[in-house]
Formats: sequence, C-alpha cells, structure tokens
Amino acid sequence: MSFSANGAEAGKRPLVRVEDVKKYFRLSGGWLAGKKYVYAVDGVSFDVAEGEVFGLVGESGCGKTTLSRLILKLIDVTDGVVQFEGQDLSALKGNDLRQLRQQMQLVFQNPIGSLSPRQRVLDIVAEPLKTHRHMSKEERRANVIDLLEQVGLGEQHLDRFPHEMSGGQCQRVAIARALALEPKLLILDEPTSALDVSVQAQILNLLDDIRRRLNLTYIFISHDLSVVQHISDRIGVMYLGKLVALGDSERIFNHPSHPYTQALLGSLPLPDVSHKQELVVLEGSVPSPTNPPPGCRFHTRCPIAQAICQEKEPELRQIEPDQFAACHLI
Ligand code: SF4
Repeated sequence: MSFSANGAEAGKRPLVRVEDVKKYFRLSGGWLAGKKYVYAVDGVSFDVAEGEVFGLVGESGCGKTTLSRLILKLIDVTDGVVQFEGQDLSALKGNDLRQLRQQMQLVFQNPIGSLSPRQRVLDIVAEPLKTHRHMSKEERRANVIDLLEQVGLGEQHLDRFPHEMSGGQCQRVAIARALALEPKLLILDEPTSALDVSVQAQILNLLDDIRRRLNLTYIFISHDLSVVQHISDRIGVMYLGKLVALGDSERIFNHPSHPYTQALLGSLPLPDVSHKQELVVLEGSVPSPTNPPPGCRFHTRCPIAQAICQEKEPELRQIEPDQFAACHLI
C-alpha cells in the first residue's frame, strides 16, 4: 500500500479532502471574552478515499468532533479548505449545499438522546424522506421497513418509541435514518461509546457489514484506539488540534512510532499486545486549547521530550512507507 504526501492512498480518488484546516473559536464568557481564542483545530490535512474507513482518535478536547462538524459544514472553517468530491464546501450555499449535505450523514454518540422521544420509529426514519424525496405514504413506509431490515430491525419496530427500545436498538434506528438518503459518507462520532461492551461489538460488525454492502465511506471518531483500529483502514491521531500521527491502521496499532500514540495504546487494557511493556504511560491532562504549549504541543506530557521540542513545532512527515508522524526524535 502506498501513501501520498498527506497520507491518502496513492491512486485512489479522495471523497473528502481536508487541507490545512483551522478552526478558532473566540471565547465568549468571562473576563477574557473576545480577547482569547480556543485553537480547536489548527492546520490539519488528510484525504479520505472513496470506500475507505478513516479513524480519528484522540482524548476528549483534541478537536476531532470540531473537525467532523467542519467536514459537514455545520460550522465554517477559520482557514483552509474542505472538499467533498472535489467541491470546495466554502463555495456552496443554499440549494447546492442542501443537495450535497444529503451525501454526508452524521451518527451521534448518544443513541437515545439523538432520537426524538415523542416520535415513533416510523416517523424518525421517514423524516429525511419526507423532506427530500417525493414519495407516497405507502412507498415511504415500505422504504422505512427496508432500511430497518438493513440494520437488523423490522416491521415490528415501526410503532415503538425510543424509550421502548434498548440503546443498541436505538443506535440501529439512528443508522437507518442516516442511510435513508443513500449517502456516500457517514461520520460516526463515538457511535459505540455509550453502549454495553457486548452491544458495541454488534454495532461495529453491523457498520462494517453495511459499509461493504453499500460501498460507503466512513470517518469513525473515537477516544478509544482499540475500537478505531477494529474498523478502520487508516487512522489519524489528534492531539490539541493537530494531527500528530497518521497511517495504516494495523501499523499504527501494532507498531506506533509517535510517543502520544504509544501512550494512548499503553492506557488500554490489552493483554495480548506483546510490546505493551515498552509503551509509555500517559500522565497529566491535556493543556488548554486556549493556550497551547509552544513547539511540540505534546512536550509537557512526553516522557522523551528534549530541549528542541519546546522550541520548534515538528512537521507531520513520512517515517515509513505507511506511517506519518510529527516528532523531532523519530
Ligand atoms: Fe515528544 Fe518531542 Fe516528539 Fe513531541 S517532538 S512527541 S515532545 S519527542
């Protein structure tokens, strides 16, 4: 497998291109209101090829969810470019943007909270069809049943309310709704983290199966490297608004080069990882994104940091045929 300069597989057409994207939020409360910024995403670049599963991993507050909102154009970039099928999203407005949004759908973390408690499953899944497709009531009902069957539910669930179903069943309904407009891209934001471990595996297998059947592209976001590795072709590791590692999923998981990736892996309960004793233990918490450390942003927690790490920011560069890392010492 060969990779291009920013990590995408060479020869594959990117469905999504993220180019030096930045998102800074102005602080709105307290005595620093208007004077300081939250550097949520700060110069991130990667491609996602059609049919690929791209995992984005990092601790809470690293910018991965903000990045997903930028890709969906739910918020505007401060700088940089997001492209979908070669179209610059910042240039799209009105009907063009609405048309394009049908190609990109989001599945949230909290399956029960993401569904309206006052709607039955039929109305929840039919909602995007009502808004965007001209169909009779009967056609819509048949379409909803078909979507429910694709996610392992059926006609018997049509009249249920979210509170009458389990978390796993609610997540299946949310996935069915996301599939209703036949999108090309699903952004899955921690889709399994609110579920029991046994149900997590079922949902991951379902997502994998759906992607193969429908040739979908996923951006899969999680704080848990083992979950991301389970489903992803490639993984991007984020720390404080920056991409610090990127590469083939197996390679990142089994032979992580970047100290932060090693630390993420070291915090997982994985008895079968042979090199676990070599992994570093992550201490302390992520610094504030309003005041990121100079140089390498990870230097305040990195066990092998040197003087240069405090002065110079490392670039994301290719260190192996299928792995990129931003670190002076690799
Ligand atoms: Fe650690 Fe320095 Fe590498 Fe940053 S650049 S990860 S501080 S060794």
